[in-house]
Amino acid sequence: MSTSTQSLQTKTKTDAPRVYDNYINGRWVKAENGETFTSTNPANEKEVIGHFASSTVNDVKKAIDAAEEALKTWRKVPAPHRAEILYKVAHLLETRKEEMARNMVREMGKVIKEARGDVQEAIDMAKFMAGEGRRLMGSTVPSELPNKFAMSVRAPIGVVGLITPWNFPVAIPSWKIFPALVAGNTVVFKPATDTPLCAVMLVEVLVEAGLPAGVLNLVTGEGSKVGQAIVDDPRVRAISITGSTAVGKKVAGRCGELMKRISCELGGKNAICIMEDADIELAVEGAVWGGFGTAGQRCTAASRVIVHKDRYKEFTEKFVARAKALKLGDGLDPDVQVGPVVSKAQLHSVHEYVEIGEKEGATLLCGGKIVKDNGMENGWFHEPTIFGDVKPSMRIAQEEIFGPVVSVIKVSDFEEAIEVANGTEYGLSLSMYTKDVNRAFAAIEELESGIVYINAPTIGAEIQLPFGGVKQTGNGHREAGTTAIDQFTEWKSVYVDYSGRLQRAQIDNHPAQKQDESKIAP
Ligand code: NAD
Repeated sequence: MSTSTQSLQTKTKTDAPRVYDNYINGRWVKAENGETFTSTNPANEKEVIGHFASSTVNDVKKAIDAAEEALKTWRKVPAPHRAEILYKVAHLLETRKEEMARNMVREMGKVIKEARGDVQEAIDMAKFMAGEGRRLMGSTVPSELPNKFAMSVRAPIGVVGLITPWNFPVAIPSWKIFPALVAGNTVVFKPATDTPLCAVMLVEVLVEAGLPAGVLNLVTGEGSKVGQAIVDDPRVRAISITGSTAVGKKVAGRCGELMKRISCELGGKNAICIMEDADIELAVEGAVWGGFGTAGQRCTAASRVIVHKDRYKEFTEKFVARAKALKLGDGLDPDVQVGPVVSKAQLHSVHEYVEIGEKEGATLLCGGKIVKDNGMENGWFHEPTIFGDVKPSMRIAQEEIFGPVVSVIKVSDFEEAIEVANGTEYGLSLSMYTKDVNRAFAAIEELESGIVYINAPTIGAEIQLPFGGVKQTGNGHREAGTTAIDQFTEWKSVYVDYSGRLQRAQIDNHPAQKQDESKIAP
């Protein structure tokens, strides 16, 4: 296997917009039809970030060919050696962190501090998964038979297809690519069309770290064409997708037909619950960060706040005051706290929910408008928006909005808070603010979600614990932590019999069996 020595694609990032290629079999190559699509800055649509390969089904086929060929040798590289590449990746990401974060702000709009956090998450994940290269643990168990050894080992699945969204454009791909690689799989990676530059930058880092040709292949383009072609190809043995529940269900259905492994990380309708004994200042701070961080475009965003009736007025007044004071603007300005939403389509979808909320009879407490002044004329900005008097059944309290819109719901007691928090089709992240340790533990038990926070908002996961959700959010898999390895490995159970004779499990050497045999023995 050879290592690509081609120069980095993004070195000229500040020059005129340029064309970025796919990365297939160790080479940067154009889509076979030569077509491209354009990525623009959501803070200023006139700024073109770059032009990216609008790939065809045949480009996908070439990427899978390369991954299939590379698998033959990559799966045999000892895992600790595969891991060495990830240590280099961590180091290179640290070196390029600021440049990558700034490009991320330009490409998808999150504010610079959060963009740095996004890259940092990939750094953390690279180090963690590199460590897994020296573990990849199975189990050894005693055999019921003498002179027999029983153990389980992990094997790579094969070629895996990784399909990612735009909201964590470096972190989420890293959650999938790093465990897949350390476990010995080869990868075909399709990022969201809103964030192809972030994907190119991440792939460049892996190439620079010395990943052999064909082990990781990047194919950019539309989900319905490129993503679908990856899912449809029987040689791709597993798909890991993060995205909307609608797309995830479609992909999972197809994978079911093809009997391929599918792990889905999908939508959320997360909630912060605030009880009558809560520290309200702390809860307000959490609600602001949870609701408006990344302009509400986190799968874990706190788009509902469920407040005990005794503290509703106090909380709502403080929350609204804080939301009104948030500075909206271009995320490259270090004083800006809320950036634009990712695209024009997203802006209109968010605003439609504001109109729905008003029609449903919720009280608009602040915000509610698209912003087109103060240097924001050419971007996709929406005011941080809070609705009060929201009923749990309203669409704004049930559907994922994925923008800076928060619904505040009044409840009478702890039990009702839990019922409302659990009362959506999603189950990603739920939180409880209380000073009562008994209630905190009751909440941990009763909240139906993959992630629970106590006295902290619904966002802020760390990479060393499993990440994912229940109900319509996921299908039982988890990213991050050591559990991520389960997504990308097959179990192989191994029995080594060194007795030199046939030993029958469940039959020979069984206490009850021995008794029976002694009865019939002469
Ligand atoms: P999306 O569903 O529109 O797209 C996700 C990815 O799937 C993209 O790369 C897209 O091109 C691809 N895709 C689309 N159609 C496809 C098809 N038919 N076959 C294969 N691939 C296809 O989602 P998005 O707008 O990019 O991201 C936002 C969504 O992601 C939100 O719903 C959010 O909650 C969710 N999300 C979930 C998590 C989580 O961990 N649970 C994390 C981040 C984002």
